[in-house]
Amino acid sequence: MTTIVMGGGLIGITTAYYLAKSGHDVTVLERNEGAGEETSFQNGALLAPGHSQSWAAPGAAWTLVKSLFQKDPALKFRFSTDPQFWRWGMKFLSNCTHDSYRKNTLRVFRCMNEGLAELRALSAETGISYEGNDNGILYLFRSERSLEERSGDWTLLRDHGLKLEEASVERCAEIEPVLEPVKSKIAGGFFSPDEEAGDAYLFTCRLAEHCVELGVNFKYSTAVSDITVDNGKVTAVNTDRGQFTADRYLLALGPHSPVLARRIGIELPIWPVKGYTASIPINGHNGAPKVGVIEEDNLVAFANLGDRLRVGGKAEFAGYDRSFTEPDFEGVFSVSKELFPNAGDYEQPKHWACLRPTSAGGPPILGETPLRNLYLNVGHGAAGWTMGCATSRAVADVMTGRKPDLDMEGLKLADL
Ligand SMILES: Cc1cc2nc3c(=O)[nH]c(=O)nc-3n(C[C@H](O)[C@H](O)[C@H](O)COP(=O)(O)OP(=O)(O)OC[C@H]3O[C@@H](n4cnc5c(N)ncnc54)[C@H](O)[C@@H]3O)c2cc1C
Repeated sequence: MTTIVMGGGLIGITTAYYLAKSGHDVTVLERNEGAGEETSFQNGALLAPGHSQSWAAPGAAWTLVKSLFQKDPALKFRFSTDPQFWRWGMKFLSNCTHDSYRKNTLRVFRCMNEGLAELRALSAETGISYEGNDNGILYLFRSERSLEERSGDWTLLRDHGLKLEEASVERCAEIEPVLEPVKSKIAGGFFSPDEEAGDAYLFTCRLAEHCVELGVNFKYSTAVSDITVDNGKVTAVNTDRGQFTADRYLLALGPHSPVLARRIGIELPIWPVKGYTASIPINGHNGAPKVGVIEEDNLVAFANLGDRLRVGGKAEFAGYDRSFTEPDFEGVFSVSKELFPNAGDYEQPKHWACLRPTSAGGPPILGETPLRNLYLNVGHGAAGWTMGCATSRAVADVMTGRKPDLDMEGLKLADL
C-alpha cells in the first residue's frame, strides 16, 4: 500500500517509521531541507507525563484576559481576526469546565504515559538515543499559595497511576542539590522520578535516517500547496515540485495542519501558540540542574542535555509569526538566572521560537477524517515529544486497518 505523509517533523517521521514497519510504501513530503526543523527543532526537551494538565481549565479565560494588561506575562494572549482563531477560541472556552478539564487532562496523560513507554521501546529496538537523562522531573512552585492552589492538578495524575512524590523545600534541594542556595525562593513541589529529558530534534533526525534504511522515501524542499479531493477521497497532493499520489494520506503538518485541512472542508480546532527556547552551553559550570525542572509559577522548563541546558517558556498568541529578538527571552532568563545562576554560559545562548500546535481541548486529534483515505496525527500542543510515539503508532495501526493499543476515546475528530 502506498502512503504519503505530509510533514517531516517529529510526528510525521515517527508515523512514517511505524507505517514502514507495517509494510506501507511511504513517501514523506517536507518543505524544509531536512527533518524536524520547525516545532520539533529546539523544544523544551522534557518527557513529562506529569505535565499533562489541559490548558483549557476553569479560570483559563480570566488568565488570558488578565494577560492583555500585563507587561511581560508568561502567557501573552492577543486577539486575531483569523476565523480559525475564533472557532478555536469558542471551542477552547467550551472546554474550560471542571468536567472537560478533568477528562481532557486524563486523555493527554494517557497519550503521554504511553508515549514515553513507546519511545523507550522504539529506542531499545532501533538503538536510537537522544542525549538526555532519566533523572526524573521536579515540578517546582515559588509560593505556598500557588502550590496549594494547583496541587490538585498533580494529585489527579497520581490517582491515575503517575509515580509522584510530594516534595518539601528541603526534599527539593535533596533531589536537586543546586537548589540549596535558593531554598528561600521556592515553596516545594512534586517529583516524578520516572520521567526523562532528551533532544527531540536529534531523535527526529536519527529516526529519519533509520526510516531511509526501512525504504521510506523523503522529498525535502517540497511544499504542499493543496490537496485534491474527488468523490469523498483524496486523489492527489499538489506541491511546488509537482503532484504526488498514493492509496493513503496522512496530515502531520504540526501547527500548519488546520490551514491546509480547511481548504478541503475539514475544520481542525488547532491554533499556534508560540514559545521561546534557548540552549545554554554548560561549559564546565556546576550549577545546572541534573533533573528536569518546570518552574510552575512562570512556566519555565529546564532540561539538562549533557553539554547544554535547554531553557524554555512563554505562551504567546502571535498567529503564525515565528520571529524572535533577544528581549523576548528576558522573562525566561530572569527565572533561570534566579534559580540556577551558575548553570552555564548565559552570554552564549542559542535562541529559538516555535509554535505549539494547540488543540482547543488539549488532546491530540488522531485517525480517520470524513475523507476515506485521509488520516490525522495533529494537535499535540506542548506535549508532542512525549506523546509522539504512542499517537504515531496508533495512527499507523488505524491506517493499516488494525485496532490500536492506545485507547482512542476522545482523540478522534468525530469525538470533538
Ligand atoms: C516552546 C515549545 C516547547 C515544547 N516543549 C516540549 C516538551 O518539553 N515536551 C514535549 O513533549 N513537547 C514539547 N513541545 C511540543 C512538541 O515540540 C511538538 O508537539 C512537536 O514538535 C510537534 O511536532 P509536529 O511534527 O507535529 O510539528 P513540526 O515539528 O512543526 O512538524 C511539522 C512539519 O510540517 C512541515 N510543513 C508545514 N507546512 C508544510 C507544507 N505546506 N508542506 C510541506 N511541509 C510542511 C514543517 O516544515 C514541519 O517540519 C514544545 C513545543 C514548543 C513550541
